[in-house]
Amino acid sequence: MTLLPVRSIHVTDVARITPRMARVTFGGRDLADFTYDAPDQHVKLYFPKPGQTAPRLPAPEAGQDFMRWYEAYNAIPEQERPWMRSYTLRGHNRQRHTIDIDFVLHDDAGPATQWAQSAKPGDTVGMFGPSPTFARPVPLGTSIRAADWLLLAGDQTALPAMGTVIESLPNGHRAVAFIEVCDSAEEQRFETRGDVTVHWIHRGGVPAGQSDLLLNAVRDAQLPAGSVFAWVAGEAGTVRALRRHLVDECGVDKRSIDFSGYWRLKLTQDDDPTEEDFADAQELLAHAQDLAEATQEQPATAVPYTRSVFDDAYQSRSAPWVIGEPQPAIVDLERHDWIRGSVLDAGCGTGEHTILLARLGYDVRGIDYSKHAIEQARSNAAEHNVAARFEVADALDLGDEPKYDTVLDSALFHVFGPKERVQYVRSLHHACRPGALVHVLALSDTGPGYGPQISDTVIRAAFGEGWVLEELRESQYRGVVGSQGELGDLPAWLARVRRI
Ligand SMILES: Cc1cc2nc3c(=O)[nH]c(=O)nc-3n(C[C@H](O)[C@H](O)[C@H](O)COP(=O)(O)OP(=O)(O)OC[C@H]3O[C@@H](n4cnc5c(N)ncnc54)[C@H](O)[C@@H]3O)c2cc1C
Repeated sequence: MTLLPVRSIHVTDVARITPRMARVTFGGRDLADFTYDAPDQHVKLYFPKPGQTAPRLPAPEAGQDFMRWYEAYNAIPEQERPWMRSYTLRGHNRQRHTIDIDFVLHDDAGPATQWAQSAKPGDTVGMFGPSPTFARPVPLGTSIRAADWLLLAGDQTALPAMGTVIESLPNGHRAVAFIEVCDSAEEQRFETRGDVTVHWIHRGGVPAGQSDLLLNAVRDAQLPAGSVFAWVAGEAGTVRALRRHLVDECGVDKRSIDFSGYWRLKLTQDDDPTEEDFADAQELLAHAQDLAEATQEQPATAVPYTRSVFDDAYQSRSAPWVIGEPQPAIVDLERHDWIRGSVLDAGCGTGEHTILLARLGYDVRGIDYSKHAIEQARSNAAEHNVAARFEVADALDLGDEPKYDTVLDSALFHVFGPKERVQYVRSLHHACRPGALVHVLALSDTGPGYGPQISDTVIRAAFGEGWVLEELRESQYRGVVGSQGELGDLPAWLARVRRI
């Protein structure tokens, strides 16, 4: 069983690399096996509360998922619960087993900045990550999303991330960076194989996050020709303005912009998300869906999976996925106690899973858009003498009442196109109670499937803000594989996603 990447790390060195930037080097036993090899990786740091020498953090347990650990963290009384802030991994020394994190020593210093201002060897903080949950790969080199050139724009908090990207550029890769800092004393040099131009923007006496200097610098620049991928981070309002400029005035495709509000003017990282933050999260989700669409290779023979295709398949009783028994992967979930509370069987088809769970005493409801499927499900339940509940209903519109603790999705998610997937995930979010689990069993693109197979990237991209992807693993989907009705197992993904 793997353990969550929760570590206790100790300061080994502190250097003021510029007047307003402290580079803190961390080491310690927990970093002995530490690896990371991609740019733009971030972590959550946990800072001790007054009177503590080390942050109080729950120890991760074998097999524990992030949400359970986070619940235990939140259960710590507030006066003892460590402050949590996001930072970028700026460097990693494999020989010494140390990592570097660069802290901007900003005005109006919050707990992280105050800690960094007085950090000294021996001081301890907690660290979560880097984790696939936070990973945001920048498309470079041979990546299918790579463009002719890369635009980087951000303030000093984004400088460490931009540094890691610039330093990992492939040979000759063109990049133009706009970096807003206080003054020339804050400028840094980067070693790179890329073909990089850095524009330093000096804020002077204007407080961070309160000027249009970065936006104007990008607006007024003569940018290279060719396709662009843009990476934008810093104060959330500035990031929004930059993104709007790139989309509305420069015509950059939204899918080619990675944007992230790293901090919010007059708000701490403990403050609740604003409406604008939620809108950004929604945008990012839609954007991830579009990316998944752009990167997903559709089989040449892909059938348009309209609703009538399914209704016809159920009516003619020719659906190769109707096997008259539950999927072994779903039976296994039940055996391992992953099904609880009020259960929705979304896209229940002819009802095998709903019937199984109703027979075992679960509070379960099966829904399907196809009335032919529901008619067959009801008659199957009657045949098995099980009082199971079935309804014709639309999984894309489950209503606003959060009433489910578990959702089973056996071969529904994979039939949706990118736009419907956004709608489906939103619909699930409304219908699930906080902490609810959604289990997705989807045909994998590594096998022949029946047409609607997907890659794991599609699942990862679909469940963004508001969800934690706790597990995504290879599994199998049982279906009719031979002309004489022989059953066989096809490669599938099994994902467990928690609604937060
Ligand atoms: C993915 C990610 C990666 C990040 N990487 C880095 C990094 O490598 N280095 C780094 O220094 N920061 C980084 N940040 C930004 C950092 O997390 C925030 O600046 C954080 O708010 C600092 O915490 P604090 O406790 O000092 O301030 P908070 O308690 O969060 O805020 C206190 C006050 O300070 C203001 N404030 C916060 N940050 C700034 C700032 N930069 N300038 C001016 N005022 C500010 C707030 O508006 C608030 O009024 C990153 C953020 C994210 C999301």
